Amino acid sequence: ALKILEGCINCDMCEPECPNKAISMGEKVYEINPDLCTECVGFYDNPTCLSVCPIDVIIKDPDRVEDHDTLYEKFVHLVNED
Ligand code: SF4
Ligand code: SF4
Repeated sequence: ALKILEGCINCDMCEPECPNKAISMGEKVYEINPDLCTECVGFYDNPTCLSVCPIDVIIKDPDRVEDHDTLYEKFVHLVNED
């Protein structure tokens, strides 16, 4: 999963772009729910939130390192939940 750092300026660019609705407003800045973030696997070649963020405050969450297969399994699981 990816993670938004505290330097986020709440520009609102990333939230509507997330195909998994993993991004929402937190207490101070936007947050990514790691259980919903597939790093865009299943939808796009690259994480779309990273592409639209005007500053570099979205990183790979060091506490949620997942390989491609794991992210794809998460994608399949989430799609089947809908
Ligand atoms: Fe959403 Fe993709 Fe960003 Fe994860 S990487 S929060 S799935 S836009
Ligand atoms: Fe924050 Fe970047 Fe999202 Fe804007 S695009 S709300 S700066 S994480």
